[in-house]
Amino acid sequence: MVYFCLRCKKIVETTAETQSVRCPYCGFRALKKGKPELVVKTMKAK
Ligand SMILES: [Zn+2]
Repeated sequence: MVYFCLRCKKIVETTAETQSVRCPYCGFRALKKGKPELVVKTMKAK
């Protein structure tokens, strides 16, 4: 299962052994399922 941290936007891969989903980088506990593709994409508005 792949999540990404809502705070630092890093990819966090969890295994079945991982019970608590938590970002290992910043310790934030709110992870969203999937990949932050929409966030990572370059934002060339103009
Ligand atoms: Zn994080």
